[in-house]
Amino acid sequence: MMKLPSPSSASPRNHRRSSADFGETAHFLKACGLCKRRLIPGRDIYMYRGDTAFCSLECRQQQMNLDESKDKCSSIAGHQVSAKGETMVAL
Ligand SMILES: [Zn+2]
Repeated sequence: MMKLPSPSSASPRNHRRSSADFGETAHFLKACGLCKRRLIPGRDIYMYRGDTAFCSLECRQQQMNLDESKDKCSSIAGHQVSAKGETMVAL
């Protein structure tokens, strides 16, 4: 006669998938959003608007300038920029 152990085999395991969902969105981190240079993992990556990565501050600044001039042309009323030219929007 077999005696089964207490049914504790289904112990809950903590599945931490924080790195997994980062991998899902990491495709845009492979190349600079401006010069398309390959971004090296471990090196500094400059994020902009939460979904664009740049290899350097200069590239990001250029993209910001491009976007800013675009915004000024298309939707002046919808986008508030302070007089100093500093956007207070959190990146
Ligand atoms: Zn770049």
